[in-house]
Amino acid sequence: MKNQSDPYNVPTEHEFAATTMLTGLVILVIAVGIAVGVTWFTTKAYEPEIHHRALRTAFFLPLFIVPLCSAIIGHQGYRNHKKMLAIAHLARTDEMTGLANRRAFMHTANNLFAETDFEYSGLGIFIIDLDHFKQVNDLHGHETGDQVLIHASNQIRAAVNEDCFVARLGGEEFGVLVPFHAVPQLHHMAEAIRFQVASNPCMLDDLTIPISASVGVGIAHPRDTVSSVLCRADDALYEAKDKGRNRFVVAA
Ligand code: GH3
Ligand code: MG
Ligand code: MG
Repeated sequence: MKNQSDPYNVPTEHEFAATTMLTGLVILVIAVGIAVGVTWFTTKAYEPEIHHRALRTAFFLPLFIVPLCSAIIGHQGYRNHKKMLAIAHLARTDEMTGLANRRAFMHTANNLFAETDFEYSGLGIFIIDLDHFKQVNDLHGHETGDQVLIHASNQIRAAVNEDCFVARLGGEEFGVLVPFHAVPQLHHMAEAIRFQVASNPCMLDDLTIPISASVGVGIAHPRDTVSSVLCRADDALYEAKDKGRNRFVVAA
């Protein structure tokens, strides 16, 4: 799922190039128009030869000057735009896993929520929490813990289909937005995530670290807000933990 995750609406490179070129063209037309108009008016009483020479100069001079200035300004604008894209990417990305961060998750969830036509489709929100992750840190150290987190995020990404939006919400907790048509699809997706994580231990040099995850599933209703669905997903997650972990629970 793309395009939904940019809370900053930074134009793409193509949009930026198109806008810059269009602006340059408009400035060129205005500059030529003004130069020719003013020259015509101020030299109309002169000898025809001088009048025509002045008009030619007034027409051709902006054709050289304006594109040159536009190119210089556009080049600087292009560099600034690239920086803006990089900053916007950083602001919506979790550095460690490369997944979207909580901010991008909330932005996308709100957009999807507003777009969902609840008569024909639905939106599921999953909260996934790694089981006993503290033990991984305690046993193998924080750096290894980080590697396990990256591995787990890759497993979650591998388990979902491309309609889904995956984010790291913080710590060892992930969120997935799952558009669906029938509720059994949500059960299937939650089980796919659980299975993918549990059946792929993290292999690091001579270490094999088994992992598992619990999944809380909230289903959005038309009168919900993203926060109320998240709350139900969170309750379902804690029920999954209470029931013994490595399982999913769909909120009532
Ligand atoms: P539970 O099954 O109940 O979820 O147990 P848990 O141990 O996973 O839960 P708990 O909340 O007690 O511990 C989460 C741990 O995740 C604690 C914290 O040290 C660790 N953690 C959070 N963020 C990071 C991180 O970025 N890197 C590493 N290595 N550990 C992290
Ligand atoms: Mg947690
Ligand atoms: Mg945990």
